[in-house]
Amino acid sequence: MNSIYKKIYKKIKEYDEIVIARHVGPDPDAIASQIALKKIIENIFPNKKVYAVGTSVSRFRYIGTLDKVDESTLNNALLIITDVPKFDRVDGAYKDRYACTIKIDHHPCDEIVCDLELVDESSSSTCQLILEFIFKNKIKIDSEIAAILYAGIVSDSDRFLLSYTTSETFALVSKLMHDYPFDIMEVYTNIYDRPINERRFEAYIIDNITITPNGFGYINITNDIIKKFEVDNSTPSNLVNDLNFIKELKAWAFSSYDDKTNLYKINIRSRNIVINDVAEKFNGGGHKFASGARLKTLDEVNKLFEALDNRCKEEKEKQS
Ligand code: AMP
Repeated sequence: MNSIYKKIYKKIKEYDEIVIARHVGPDPDAIASQIALKKIIENIFPNKKVYAVGTSVSRFRYIGTLDKVDESTLNNALLIITDVPKFDRVDGAYKDRYACTIKIDHHPCDEIVCDLELVDESSSSTCQLILEFIFKNKIKIDSEIAAILYAGIVSDSDRFLLSYTTSETFALVSKLMHDYPFDIMEVYTNIYDRPINERRFEAYIIDNITITPNGFGYINITNDIIKKFEVDNSTPSNLVNDLNFIKELKAWAFSSYDDKTNLYKINIRSRNIVINDVAEKFNGGGHKFASGARLKTLDEVNKLFEALDNRCKEEKEKQS
């Protein structure tokens, strides 16, 4: 019986045109998984046309550049979605235009939405799954691809701090670094170097976050504050992990207003308190301990914050 890794390789081999897409509002793991996979396929099959699509984010340009493709010109193409569980959150590709679909992802999802799926909720990152795909198929890569994959893994595991980090993660990363040495400091500089105004903005958040008696922290970040600190609308998402390891915080959420979509963007994180089912009730979702939502009104935002505070209260009561 062929493993899912071999089946995916076989499908990739079959198609001459391949589009790789990931979720809207991408993070480094989403972009790194699609760019690394594109480069891997191009290395093995130089005659295939491979496109990594979606809105580009200047902050993550160090990972690689994205492509534009007119889907109406595609004929018998393969679509691979990475780091996204369902098609409603895929950026820049429409399932119906493709002859075959593959999903590689580590988000929880009960539904099968693609023809082939490599899904492991316990994996630290989608880049870790790509790494497994490489090693199981004995694919040769290079140090550039290795550095891209490492950036995705480091970023999504929050520097190996999150509980999804396992011996498997370290074993794969160890082999990656051994086989394809790359400049680790360059990776960290790309991910973590920040201007002082972002650090000041972070200090503002820590100064102004409200913490409930149940250990839930929340803050509404207005566009005036975003302007005052000269950051942008994506900055709260980049900072939300940094509130980890504050003793008083068991779960926390940021709300910020996105002028482009006219929606409130909510970033939610927790320490061992399941929050994705709460997010799902508010048009959101994500991982057990790292979720998000998009909401139309401040009233809905406050209701979500209330529901998250209740979840923290339930957990507190369980433990007392
Ligand atoms: P973020 O706070 O934007 O970094 O998102 C954390 C996690 O939640 C990521 O895995 C996202 O894919 C997921 N997520 C964010 N927003 C939504 C949403 N509106 N619906 C479903 N999942 C989401």
